[in-house]
Amino acid sequence: MHITIFGTGYVGLVTGACLAQSGNHVVCVDIDEDKIARLTRGEIPIYEPGLEQIVHDNVRSGRLRFTTDAAEAVAHGTLQFIAVGTPPDEDGSADLQYVLKVASTIGAHMDDYRLVITKSTVPVGTADKVREALGQAVRERGVDIEFDVASNPEFLKEGAAVEDFMKPDRVVVGVDSDRAAEHLRALYAPFNRQHDRTIIMDIRSAELTKYAANIVLATKISLMNELSQVADRVDADIEQVRKAIGADHRIGYHFIYPGCGFGGSCFPKDVRALAQTAGKLGYDTEIINAVERVNDRQKQVLFEKLAAHFGDLSGKTIALWGLAFKPNTDDMREAPSCTLMQALWEAGARVRAYDPEAMKETRRIYGERDDLLLCETAEQAVEDADALVLVTEWHIFRTPDFADIARRMRQPVLVDGRNIYKPSYVAQAGFTYYGIGRSAAS
Ligand code: NAD
Repeated sequence: MHITIFGTGYVGLVTGACLAQSGNHVVCVDIDEDKIARLTRGEIPIYEPGLEQIVHDNVRSGRLRFTTDAAEAVAHGTLQFIAVGTPPDEDGSADLQYVLKVASTIGAHMDDYRLVITKSTVPVGTADKVREALGQAVRERGVDIEFDVASNPEFLKEGAAVEDFMKPDRVVVGVDSDRAAEHLRALYAPFNRQHDRTIIMDIRSAELTKYAANIVLATKISLMNELSQVADRVDADIEQVRKAIGADHRIGYHFIYPGCGFGGSCFPKDVRALAQTAGKLGYDTEIINAVERVNDRQKQVLFEKLAAHFGDLSGKTIALWGLAFKPNTDDMREAPSCTLMQALWEAGARVRAYDPEAMKETRRIYGERDDLLLCETAEQAVEDADALVLVTEWHIFRTPDFADIARRMRQPVLVDGRNIYKPSYVAQAGFTYYGIGRSAAS
């Protein structure tokens, strides 16, 4: 099939590369000239395991191309995917300007039937707006060309995006015509070989499904984080509690890890956006609002533990291990590390930090500053530090030589923001240990 993808971010680039990998001819288009120039040179602008190889393979085979020329891109694909950003507006609603701009662009250039599929996460009812923008752009040209719109929300996880796209738990497709359903069924057939993972439904239900999935996951995290706060106050160990409740099949072990709050480009914005959608319709989403409030509070927990230990943090040097919002990505959007660094700087502390992939992104966001030293290694980050904070649980941080780390530090204080260390083990190396909800841990 001939496919066009608007937007070459995490979702668009992975979608384009993976669809080319299954034999389609794909053109990826972006308005960011620098990004397209880099992709054309074979540079992958984001870190995503496995992505570089399939982009290179498919560019070489001629099935994947990059362009900034929207007219050429619209001419290429019968299927046109919209995978541009939907950042939060001032009030938390999803900003649809990029999505609707793409719809108008497609309408302005198409001269044959097109199926326009929204992959971006968009509020319920957006497909109607896409249809309207497209139809208007077509009519303004005084022509009459058929098109369909569809919703195909994306569920990939950054850090495992290629794997998730290639082996999806399910593919959700929202359509209102048999023609659109057939196109999408055919497109996703190679991903359904074991069993049919494609769930076809009406467009509004598909749009809501994406928010519902993210909100259920975010709720699990906030609920566990809230329980960890209680555990801290009643001298219990949330990790023992987690293991015991996860054994109940109705609860399960997935997504019940307490930590220092969720970040990323999806959960925080999708939680806010659905609350806004409901609020505008006169419904107050009490649980969803609380998920966000609990998360905002939890993002302060690392700083609070440091402040409780040191009292005054001014002049202290704090080492951070991990800056990305989760392992295996360089994405820093709404990362707990950002909240922590900001609070430390306001308190007059200095930060030494190391992350395996997010150093460039951190430099891009914060530039050069006296109170931030980006280090080459995890060991270098702890030199003369008053405390070490594990913020992102990358594998390489899992079994450090704690005796060596303690020797390098000014004071052996460890705040474990993801509960990955055994408190009694790090205590043996002389550390004062603080976990999340583990005041009774040993
Ligand atoms: P991103 O910010 O990484 O990339 C968006 C890209 O769209 C940018 O490169 C931008 O230049 C480009 N763009 C903007 N306007 C354009 C236009 N008119 N024509 C062509 N390109 C244009 O965004 P992302 O993380 O890939 O997310 C995209 C959408 O997918 C969002 O709605 C997001 O909520 C959703 N989503 C993201 C993830 C994720 O893990 N990142 C997962 C599932 C869904």
